[in-house]
This record gives sequence, structure tokens and C-alpha cells, in this order.
Amino acid sequence: MPLGEFEVIARYFTRATPRRDVLLGVGDDAALLAPPPGQALVAATDTLVEGRHFLPGTPPLSVGHNALAVNLSDLAAMGADPAWALLALSLPDPDERWLEEFAGGLHALATRHGVALVGGDTVSGPLVVTVAVLGFVPADAALRRSGAKPGDAVYVSGTPGVAAAGLDLLRRGVMTFESRDPRVQRMLFAEPRLALGRALRGRASAAMDVSDGLLGDLDKLARASTVGAVLELERLPIAPMLADAYDRAQCERLVLHGGDDYELLFTMPADGAAARAAEIAEQAGCAVHRIGRIVAGEGVRCLREGREEPVTGGGYDHFAH
Ligand code: ADP
Ligand code: MG
Repeated sequence: MPLGEFEVIARYFTRATPRRDVLLGVGDDAALLAPPPGQALVAATDTLVEGRHFLPGTPPLSVGHNALAVNLSDLAAMGADPAWALLALSLPDPDERWLEEFAGGLHALATRHGVALVGGDTVSGPLVVTVAVLGFVPADAALRRSGAKPGDAVYVSGTPGVAAAGLDLLRRGVMTFESRDPRVQRMLFAEPRLALGRALRGRASAAMDVSDGLLGDLDKLARASTVGAVLELERLPIAPMLADAYDRAQCERLVLHGGDDYELLFTMPADGAAARAAEIAEQAGCAVHRIGRIVAGEGVRCLREGREEPVTGGGYDHFAH
């Protein structure tokens, strides 16, 4: 007997939560939630479609993890504390092993960040996972894309490009989903930079998460702030595991155009930026690297040792085919 919709919900998506702001979770017509007074509610949603956002055959543990992770990354980019999530799941057949693993991946990450799954929808159809997350931030401390000013320093966290390398290895069949290779693992299990987002409150002038490639996303941030940006190619952080495996040009391509790392890109006033960056890195527990500066004007220019260098290719656009 295949599982029915209500058994699926009861068995895999109904969990007790210690959160006291969940007055009513899964089971009624809608969730009843008590936002803290004086804070802005922050909301984001993201959909993952099989074959488009994840490869067919991706381990369900990864699909469950990443469906929540990409949403938490959006809250991190706002400087928000996540609180609640909703899950709309379309799946071809209610395979118990798949559901067990998928739910395991999602609940593990939710628990780690104190997020309660409070509702959703379960339907049969192609494999599509939509998660919505809600969180809070003091309204005046929210990080936006639009606050960058000429003269600000541009920073990125961690070492982007690693997940893109993992995706490339999987696509070319050099590695399998079972590989323990850190590049493949990074692609399968994104780490939302929530601690960094909090550390950037009151410090960053603008921020966003890098989901479509550093260069294209810096262009988006610059547009939102109606400024231009200069990217200093020699400053790009290259993970040693990339430097060991690829030449410098390939590494830069992965860093500039690769998606799926979910690092944060942010700007700060240049005055005292180095000291502030050190505090931020300490507080967030992750490295941050200065990679350029904001300038008046528009567009992103790439410099190498002070000389302009044309860089082609951009971020991923779903409708640009
Ligand atoms: P309705 O008919 O009102 O849409 P449903 O039967 O779809 O209600 O859902 C019943 C309850 O289960 C609701 O509280 C809904 O939020 C929750 N729910 C349904 N699917 C999921 C899911 N995949 N994850 C979490 N909660 C879910
Ligand atoms: Mg429903």
C-alpha cells in the first residue's frame, strides 16, 4: 500500500518544536505564529526543480538540506534570524526511503538553526521542492543590496567556486554523489552564512548572497545601489583544493561564475574596514576577503594588478536561453 498524503505529512513533516512562538504548527488549516514585537518579519522563498536546480538522482538527504539551505542563505543575506519554514512538496510517488532521507536532511539543518517547520503542502507531480522561510531582524539593521557607496570596500566570505567545481566533477562523471570529495560535498550541502549575516548588522553598507556567481551578483548589488564596482582579480580567494586541481584561469572562472556556494558578498566603508573585517570573521567563524571597491558610475570592471581586463560570462538567468 503506497503512503497517502496525510501519512506522509504525519510521518515525515510533523515534528515537535521547542519554539514557543509557534502557537499552532502542522495540522490545522494554517500555522499560527507569534512574531516578536518591534522586529521586522523577513520572508523568502525558493524553489528547486529536479533537472534544473539539482541533478536527477541527487541523494534526497542533499535535496532536503539544500531546499532549506538556499532559503536560509537569503535570510542570512538580510542579517535576519530564521524562525519558521513552510514546505510545498510535489513528488512523483511517495517512496518511503526517499522521504525518510529527504526529511532527515531538511530537519537536521532546521534543528541546527532553531527553525520550526510549521506547514506546507504535499501534492503528486514532478519532483519540485519549494521552501519558504520567515525570520526577524530589527528593521533598521536589515542588510539590503542598495546601500553601497562609492569608496566602500567589497568583501566576499569563504572561498566561492568550490561547489561549482563539485558540480563540474559530477556532470563529467569524474565523481559520483557518494564521493566524499569536499567539492562534491560543498555542492550537495550548502552552509548558509547565518552567523556572518548577524555579524554584518550595523557594519555592512550592502549585502547579498552569491547564488548565481560572484561577478553577476556583484553587478546586481551595484545596480541596486546605483554605483559601479571594481573587482581586483589578483585578490580573489582561491581555495587550496581548487588551486591544486586547476590552473589560475580555471580557478578564477569557477570563482567568478560558479553558483551554489551561498557565500555572502558585502560592502563596508573603507575607513577601518580591515579591523572591522577581522572582528566580523572572528564573530562569524569564517574568513572574509576584500576583493574590490565600489566606485561612482555603473557596471563592474575587473582589474589585474591595476590593469583593466575584460571578463566575459555572467550569472545564471533562467529565462536567458
Ligand atoms: P489544506 O487542505 O488546508 O491545504 P493540507 O491537507 O494540505 O491542508 O495540509 C494539512 C496540514 O499539513 C496543514 O497544516 C499543512 O500546513 C501541513 N502540511 C502539508 N504538507 C506539508 C509538508 N510537506 N510539510 C509540512 N507541513 C505540511
Ligand atoms: Mg494543502
